[in-house]
Amino acid sequence: MTSPTEQTPTDPPTKPPETTPASLVDRFNRWLAEKHVGLPHCPVSQDGNWALADHVVELRRYEKGSLYVGGPVYPMVMVVCKTCGYTMFFNAVLIGLLREGQ
Ligand SMILES: [Zn+2]
Repeated sequence: MTSPTEQTPTDPPTKPPETTPASLVDRFNRWLAEKHVGLPHCPVSQDGNWALADHVVELRRYEKGSLYVGGPVYPMVMVVCKTCGYTMFFNAVLIGLLREGQ
């Protein structure tokens, strides 16, 4: 018999807390407003039709074509041009959406 705090092999893996899409969008828009900045026109299509991904993505170190495991990852907010797919990334820690290591 296991106590409620013990995990069995059938338990789902513990996931880190997720940023909900609504809160991610709200917090990103608040950051833009606080910094008095806006998104530019797309440098490729010249449109201003951006979509914010509903999740944080990560960038990691490139190591000679292999997957580099154990190094730092950089959580990024991804903003995609809905016309041509050009993509901008904002460092989620630097803009305050996540704490370092979160
Ligand atoms: Zn574009």
